[in-house]
Amino acid sequence: MDLDLVFLGTSGSVPTAKRGLAGTLLRRGGERILVDCGEGTQRQLLRSSVGLVELPEIFLTHYHADHYLGLPGMLKTFALRGREVPLTVYGPPGLKELFGILRRVFGRLSYELTLVELVSGDAVGRDDYRIEAFAVEHGVSANGYALVEEPRPGRFDLEAAKGLGVPEGPLFGRLQAGESVQLPDGSTVSPEQVLGPARSGRKIVLAGDTRAAGSVLEAARDAEVLVHEATFSVEERERADETLHATATSAAELAAAAGVRLLALTHLSNRYFGPEIVREARAVFPETVVPKDFDIIDVRFPERGGPRLVKGGALGRHEEGEPHDKDGSGDPGERPRGGRGDSDDPALRGNPVGARVGRRDASDGAR
Ligand SMILES: [Zn+2]
Ligand SMILES: [Zn+2]
Repeated sequence: MDLDLVFLGTSGSVPTAKRGLAGTLLRRGGERILVDCGEGTQRQLLRSSVGLVELPEIFLTHYHADHYLGLPGMLKTFALRGREVPLTVYGPPGLKELFGILRRVFGRLSYELTLVELVSGDAVGRDDYRIEAFAVEHGVSANGYALVEEPRPGRFDLEAAKGLGVPEGPLFGRLQAGESVQLPDGSTVSPEQVLGPARSGRKIVLAGDTRAAGSVLEAARDAEVLVHEATFSVEERERADETLHATATSAAELAAAAGVRLLALTHLSNRYFGPEIVREARAVFPETVVPKDFDIIDVRFPERGGPRLVKGGALGRHEEGEPHDKDGSGDPGERPRGGRGDSDDPALRGNPVGARVGRRDASDGAR
């Protein structure tokens, strides 16, 4: 099962030319879960190879403006496209109050919107994984989130199965799925006879904004990936303490204590560019990366090599600097989508958002 993290915005508090505001996409198999939605997140998605897909679930860590201001615009875009897929937004207490205000901004939606407030200890369950909310220390109502996979069945011991006389074929699959099977000679083989011990699933922890806190350490224990903020370097330790943010050093110390495999630092103050943050953290915890926007962390199973940073892994075709389309429009191949104009926006009526209407001025692509 593929599992990765797409970094859409890695700047803290204010955007920079290179880094957008908080937004991280979790992808597991065909599922897409957005964590935080800072201003500009919908455009980051459009620019990426992911596209502005109809996300069914968005988790907010807290309600500082750099983490949610992209949401009203994104919800509005979905409505203009005539989205019908329901959307659930999760967040710490205060979510419903926030949306009382935001509704006046985005207006009527074409799809069902559900708001779910989560407190530390709550979990959103799925068949083979869950997303747990845990407490952080940021001075406001705030959650971190951990994606935790269920344990996997143990390794199938082919030799043992053959030794017991299990014929190759469908019986292998049933044993692997945990079922006992009856052999043609009438004897029974149970899964324990052919499966090794259960293997743990993967865990990805996104702490959001927080100082290095004991609750984060507990949540991050043995995680494949911990995404932690490092708003400041250790020289600004006092400022970090005052504002309940982490330094590269404090985040790295926490990662080391928690025994995570890979630490990804994000939410950098605009006075840092990355290299100084990664140097500082690696002195404490060598397995640290500082992703840029559009980097991916591919979270492979431990036996396949574990997590790794893929630089620019989510860059859209256009962003990689590939030649423009033949027509010189510079269009990156956004998939045109149907949709309908919104009745309260006459300019858009009958002009589906996202669909190309006529040719763009060729000078767009001329550099
Ligand atoms: Zn922030
Ligand atoms: Zn914050």
